[in-house]
Amino acid sequence: MTERPSFPMNVTVEQARQMLADLLPVRSAEQVPVQQAAGRYLAADLPALVSHPSATESALDGIACREADTLDAAPGRPVRLQVVGESRAGVPFSGSVETGCCVRIYTGAPLPPGADAICPVEQLQDDGLDAVWLQRPASPGDVRPEGGDFRAGEVVLRAGQRLTPSRLALAVSLGHALVPVRAQLRAALFSTGDEVREPGEPLAPGQVYDSNRHGLAAMLHEAGCEVLDLGHAPDSLEVLSARIEAAGGADVLITSGGVSMGKYDFMRDLLLEHGRVSFWKVRMRPGGPALLGGWRGLPVFGLPGNPVSSLVVFQVIVRPALTGELPFTLRLRAATPFRALADRAAYWRGVIEGGTVRDYGQQGSGVLRSLSEAGALVIVPEGQAVAAGDEVEVMLF
Ligand code: AMP
Ligand code: MG
Repeated sequence: MTERPSFPMNVTVEQARQMLADLLPVRSAEQVPVQQAAGRYLAADLPALVSHPSATESALDGIACREADTLDAAPGRPVRLQVVGESRAGVPFSGSVETGCCVRIYTGAPLPPGADAICPVEQLQDDGLDAVWLQRPASPGDVRPEGGDFRAGEVVLRAGQRLTPSRLALAVSLGHALVPVRAQLRAALFSTGDEVREPGEPLAPGQVYDSNRHGLAAMLHEAGCEVLDLGHAPDSLEVLSARIEAAGGADVLITSGGVSMGKYDFMRDLLLEHGRVSFWKVRMRPGGPALLGGWRGLPVFGLPGNPVSSLVVFQVIVRPALTGELPFTLRLRAATPFRALADRAAYWRGVIEGGTVRDYGQQGSGVLRSLSEAGALVIVPEGQAVAAGDEVEVMLF
């Protein structure tokens, strides 16, 4: 390419995310059974339909009594309370607790009327019959007040939040049997490269297993997409065109490989000729030659073939665009120096240890095990250097 390109080149990570997000369809909402909603994104705020706890209840096993009755209890000067019944989870005590009395109570059981404090079973001397002795005052702090977690009507989960296992549990606890979630994006996926083989096939020298496609499929699932796996395509203009055509019904197509400067890197010219190119190359390392374009109505994101680049560009650019969630980052002290080139941000593989982050060592974009062993990406903005002892921004990977 000697003449001036007809598309933007060397965009920033933020521009790349936004340009991809702008090409994606608006997702409608659908109601799904909460049991099937793990990993999905809420399409609306979720209010609590009930309060939790639904009644003031005990936080432990012991007795429920009136605190005022127990204030004089001390080691060697025990206070005696008459046991008049029991309250257990799901089966409350039917009466009320009068002065000098108590009921046996268990975790999660409603606090009976009249009682306002709990004495844990470990602190009781029990005569085995109908009385207990307390060596210290009962505590009003050992109850869980009604609505202390949330009250009916309160909005507890927000539109756009992903239903992680703990949020899914919370949605159930709020009382929802059906939850409104965003329709899943249908993401088509294929990998390219004459050297690329399926798992289990024998490898000839120079060949490589299709780690990108299977890693990316897992990342797409994790990002809440429905994955249309179109397999692997050799480096042939005809096969690549046909494969892109086959992705026609999807909302977005993700590809791996063939976006660089090599003679057999056909993706860019193919899009340029038969579709359009929105940008080529992102100012980040690893991952430079990523490509965004379109083929008829279909947005196409071409990830680099190098295994680290492909997964890192997905994590840093594609995933946030698909999900609307920016990657979670934290600031840590650097144990080793990190730097970025003048014209691109660096995403170093780093190891978090003892509250600091250090350089993993091997930063080659083909060293896939580095992603598995490092666990973190250290983000250095373009042109910046970080000395050991400085704080850096870190993304868990
Ligand atoms: P490319 O971007 O197609 O030039 O590929 C760059 C490097 O990534 C080459 O070493 C390829 O063998 C390797 N590579 C390409 N595609 C894959 C893939 N699907 N899985 C693993 N490695 C790949
Ligand atoms: Mg290739």
